Amino acid sequence: MALSEFALIERYFRTCGVSRADVKLGVGDDAALLTVAPGCTLVAATDTLVAGVHFPPHSPPASVGHRALAVNLSDLAAMGARAAWALLALTLPAAEESWLGEFSAGFCALARAHGVALVGGDTTRGPLCVSVTLLGAVPSGKALTRSGGHPGDVLFVSGTPGDAAAGLALEQGRLQAPDSARSWLRERFLLPTPRMALGERLLAYASACIDVSDGLLGDLGRLASASRAGAVLDYDELPLSQPLVEVVGEERARELALTGGDDYELCFAVPPHNVTRLLAELPPQRWGYTRIGALRAAAGVDIVRDGTVMEFSHSGYDHFA
Ligand code: ADP
Ligand code: MG
Repeated sequence: MALSEFALIERYFRTCGVSRADVKLGVGDDAALLTVAPGCTLVAATDTLVAGVHFPPHSPPASVGHRALAVNLSDLAAMGARAAWALLALTLPAAEESWLGEFSAGFCALARAHGVALVGGDTTRGPLCVSVTLLGAVPSGKALTRSGGHPGDVLFVSGTPGDAAAGLALEQGRLQAPDSARSWLRERFLLPTPRMALGERLLAYASACIDVSDGLLGDLGRLASASRAGAVLDYDELPLSQPLVEVVGEERARELALTGGDDYELCFAVPPHNVTRLLAELPPQRWGYTRIGALRAAAGVDIVRDGTVMEFSHSGYDHFA
């Protein structure tokens, strides 16, 4: 690489995100030294983005940096955890300064916004690939898991799932849209918003939670089966954004909301006795979440419309073919 690895790390990653008192040693030594607060459990997640697989190869670099951290933040949000420390393993075809500048700006801005310090990583040459490990903390014994739900728990989802899948299709030229809708949908793919504040607040109400990364239907199925339950999903209650409906029509929008992917929203279950308190203390309009169904004893997920179970067959990977 033209830029030495040392200079690259110094320039783009030495000070990235916030500085934290619990980082005893950060970037620069063989490993980082971190202090976990008493009464807390360490929470760890890692996710890799491969160019051409998880993002279009010529994506804006700031988006690649943002998404690499956002997907991990979303995993911590789903546990009700607060993020603290990140490690970044970066594989680059070349040390291109303009790319690195924009990538680190996207990554570090999101880290700052969520109180995260970049404390280490690895830099190698090869096909573009970004792997982030994110560490955080949750009060011991309090973490939300996928498996804590019970039949009768009410199901909710944050945001408007389906937008990111349409945004990706726009990015890849598989879909066309007028400018206003286009910029909203693209942003939902390029710069997803991990629901950190909501996840942490849900510790006081929810029995189970999962982040929606592979499509609401599949991820809800995972939450339900981890909870040894099934679910009923109300087709007409699915929250849809106006731009999505405008661009693909209502039926397609519902299909994308169920199967789209890359949403990074939270799907969570709340025991009936907590629902009134949840709705009063975290008003859904302000916190941006919607009731979509309930867990039930029988396995599997049924999509119900006008009181009857729908035959729902989704078209798989390419919704725009
Ligand atoms: P080592 O050979 O001991 O792994 P490296 O040269 O890979 O050392 O890394 C030197 C220091 O820079 C280490 O503290 C490492 O954590 C950090 N580092 C390397 N690459 C990155 C990166 N992309 N982002 C943040 N820190 C990094
Ligand atoms: Mg190394």
